[in-house]
This record gives sequence, structure tokens and C-alpha cells, in this order.
Amino acid sequence: MTQDVISGGQSIHAPDNLKTLLQTILQQALTVNDGKVADYIPALAEVKSDYCALTVATLDGQVTSVGDATATFSIQSISKIFGLMLAMERMSDSLWERVQMEPSGQPFNSIVQLEWERGIPRNPMINAGAILVSDVLVSHYSASKSAVLSMVRGLCNRDTVCVDSRVHESEKDHGARNAALAYLMKSFGNIESDVEEVLDHYFWQCALTMSTEDLARSFAFLANRGKCPRSGNQITSHRDAQRINALLSTSGMYDQSGQFAFTVGLPAKSGVGGGIVAIVPDYGVIAAWSPPLNSFGNSARGMAMIRNLANQLGLSVY
Ligand code: GLU
Repeated sequence: MTQDVISGGQSIHAPDNLKTLLQTILQQALTVNDGKVADYIPALAEVKSDYCALTVATLDGQVTSVGDATATFSIQSISKIFGLMLAMERMSDSLWERVQMEPSGQPFNSIVQLEWERGIPRNPMINAGAILVSDVLVSHYSASKSAVLSMVRGLCNRDTVCVDSRVHESEKDHGARNAALAYLMKSFGNIESDVEEVLDHYFWQCALTMSTEDLARSFAFLANRGKCPRSGNQITSHRDAQRINALLSTSGMYDQSGQFAFTVGLPAKSGVGGGIVAIVPDYGVIAAWSPPLNSFGNSARGMAMIRNLANQLGLSVY
């Protein structure tokens, strides 16, 4: 799948060559001046807009980064993948009776579709779907937050990954729309646990802070048929890894998922903290971070970096 691009007689995938390419791509991205840092969660608005990072982790264990790749940030909706993994494991196919697997074509926090569709969210990558998944975790795990945290720490091999309590509290204080989604689903009988407990789990999970290096390491199993290349542990079945990648391809980039598939061609997930992860099956993971968001809620520079890299290396899965 990856083109064997040759530079000076050496593969572009050789660490030094890849680093040079990432540096060029990051410098080009810094000329993109669209976008605005998310401010509907006040704690996110305090993040400096000029952070920029790009990491590539390949399945042979090589991690190549440029920019602020060890600085941690609020991963926001990227955390939806972690919650989904645990819910798929616990619920198996019955999960899909409570959440669909279709693109929404609506903003990530839209309410109208949920009313029309009687409280069944379109997919687990929009807020309603992730709140539903949070309900599954709260209902089926005695300590849902610990279950997520220990999984995340294990995946990225860093025991100090934590949640930013200021972001968590800030989201709770400004979470009226998410609360509306949750109560609407409850009214249709699609939330089992106490709504406030479910929302607390959801906001907590969104406030996980990680770096692009953490993210790239964490999601390597999705590029490797469900198996962590570092530990050799089977994190999800191959089938579930395929299913998660399918959902990321159709719904991971908000209502810009179609354009992302068209111009980049990789399963990916973004968050309003400005992070994006893109999965390159059988190759590795690209993680990018830059806080200013375009009108769809995707990092403007992050999109530019991943598109540029994927196009130069011929990474599209299509
Ligand atoms: N915590 C954010 C919210 O619920 C997540 C949004 C996102 O990253 O897409 O609005």
C-alpha cells in the first residue's frame, strides 16, 4: 500500500528521511491560518493556538515526530474510540441494537436527528453515540473510569496518562447540549443508568490528556489487525478492528468524513482539542495536533498535515 518512494537511494520510510519529510510538512502547515480554537468549553479556549505536532508510529516500533509531539492536550472525541472498544467487548453484537453504524451528515452535537430516529444515535462517533456508549460502560463496569484509564495507559505504555480535571469540570459546567442529548435518549428508553453518572463518565473521558506520540502508539493495534505490535497482545479481534476502522472511515471526521475519505483515504478520528489520528492499515498510525479548528470542528493544520503526508506517501486505503 505505501509507495516505495526513494530519496537519495534510500526509502522515504528510513527514520532520517521520514523526519525530514515531516519537518517540511509541519512547516507548510504553519502557513495555514484558518480556524479558531474551540471556546464552547472555556478551558479549551485557554490553549495556545500555535502548538503544532506530527507523529508517525510504524508497526516495526519506530516513532518519528516533529513539533510539540510530547506536549499533552485534551483528546476530546478521540476518546470515543477507547469507550467504543470496551463497549464492543462487553456487549458484542447487541450494542448495534442501541446505536447505528451510519454516517450522520449532521454536526457532532446535533439533536434533531436523534428525535426523528427515536433516541437511537446514528453512530458511536457523534456525541449522542458516545454518550450511549458511556451508558454501556457505566452500566456494565463497576469502575468505568478505571477500566478506560488502565486500558489507555497500557496501550500507550505510559502510566502517567491522566485526565485534566479543569477541562472535565469546564465541560460539566457547559454541557447543556450533551445533557439534552442524554435526557432525550433516556426518554426513549435508550439510557439505562443515571443520566448524570453517564454524562460524568462521558465528560471525564473527553478530558483525557495525551500527546501525539501517546496517541500514535495507542492506536497501532488498529493498523495491525487488532494486535498491539509492541506487546503482542490481541487488543480487539481482527473483526472488531476492521469494524472500528470502518466507522472511523465513515464517521470519524464529523460531517467532513466524506471529504476526508475523498482527499486522504484513511480511517481517522478527530477531537475538538485539535488532535487527529489516522490509521494506515499494515503500516502504522499518524497523529497530528494543532488547536485551531475549521468550521466542521476538525483541526485545520492537522487536516493539512495528514492530507499532505498521506498523498506524498500514497497511503490511501482505496
Ligand atoms: N467533549 C466534546 C463535546 O462533547 C467533544 C466534542 C468533540 O471532540 O467532537 O462537545
